[in-house]
Amino acid sequence: FLAKNTPNFHELKNDEKTIRLCFNENPFGVSPKALEAMQKSLSLSSMYDFKFADTLSAKLADKNQLKQENILVAAGSSFLLELIIKYVSLNKGHFIIPDPSFTIFEPIGEFLGMSKTVVPLNEQKRIDLDQMKSAIRKDTKLIYICNPNNPTGDLLSRTEIESFIKSVPDNIMILVDEAYIEFTNQRSLSDLVNTYKNLVVTRTFSKLYGFAGARLGYAIGNPTLIKELKKLQSWSGAEISVTTMAGAIAALEDQEFISKVLDNNQKVKDFTMSEFQKRGIKTIPSSANFVYFSLDNYKDNYFKKLKDSKILGGKTYEQTGKWTRISLGTMEEMKVYFGAIS
Ligand code: PLP
Repeated sequence: FLAKNTPNFHELKNDEKTIRLCFNENPFGVSPKALEAMQKSLSLSSMYDFKFADTLSAKLADKNQLKQENILVAAGSSFLLELIIKYVSLNKGHFIIPDPSFTIFEPIGEFLGMSKTVVPLNEQKRIDLDQMKSAIRKDTKLIYICNPNNPTGDLLSRTEIESFIKSVPDNIMILVDEAYIEFTNQRSLSDLVNTYKNLVVTRTFSKLYGFAGARLGYAIGNPTLIKELKKLQSWSGAEISVTTMAGAIAALEDQEFISKVLDNNQKVKDFTMSEFQKRGIKTIPSSANFVYFSLDNYKDNYFKKLKDSKILGGKTYEQTGKWTRISLGTMEEMKVYFGAIS
């Protein structure tokens, strides 16, 4: 995924001069409260954990006004996307994905013998639910919806997704990846998992809480489905480190950090949109912590400019049109970015 997502992957390093606008990470790092809890928990690293895992899933259940049986915690939401594709592939079949999107599990599904239909975004660069519905076959097992979508940042409304779920056969699992939902004003679909037994929602700590390297994500689904998915985890949740879990419990309470991140994201997004507009660069309205834009009107060698300024940016997407994505950093970082590409 790393190699696919950035053209200058080999240069990825954490020296302080490199500006990372490539992976939609948190520009402020890990939540300070989480970091403190992680440091304190380091000495527990020699022991198998039974306490943090339980506290964490209880807190996540509470946050989503659900029960612990609705929650499956894992080392990153990618891990859960993989687990879900493995689960639906048990009897082979077919899956449907939008393009471009965060389809990290696609090769695993194919490797496990599934076929797929890739549905391009519509004219407005939105996930094309009508076309995805038309792609349904008798053997379709899974439909993936990334909301907001990565790389475009486009957000489908709850009504759009709920009508879609209602309109498709209920033996098809609808996987809604909400890695960026906290950056929107829209509620998660988590409250619908007991109504629609085929709905599973994934969430991550990588973005808002700055846990991309610490690794933590969770799936929300009805208890039967969660129980089934757990069968594919040999020792459910044991792949998550004690330190990460201790940090995650604290991160959930770090309101000050959460507000700082969301406030910065909005300000930086407004600034970024207006800078692109000034340059005549076409963008897609973003509900996330990144912006999708076209290089069609950009006269210079964009990627060379980034490289020369030690800025890590995204790759290009889509066969026609040079669309690319830039993650939103701090205001200072974005000023350097716009200076570099000017
Ligand atoms: N889902 C989407 C839409 C993402 O963009 C990403 C990471 O960029 C992930 C999932 C993976 O998140 P995690 O770090 O929780 O594995």
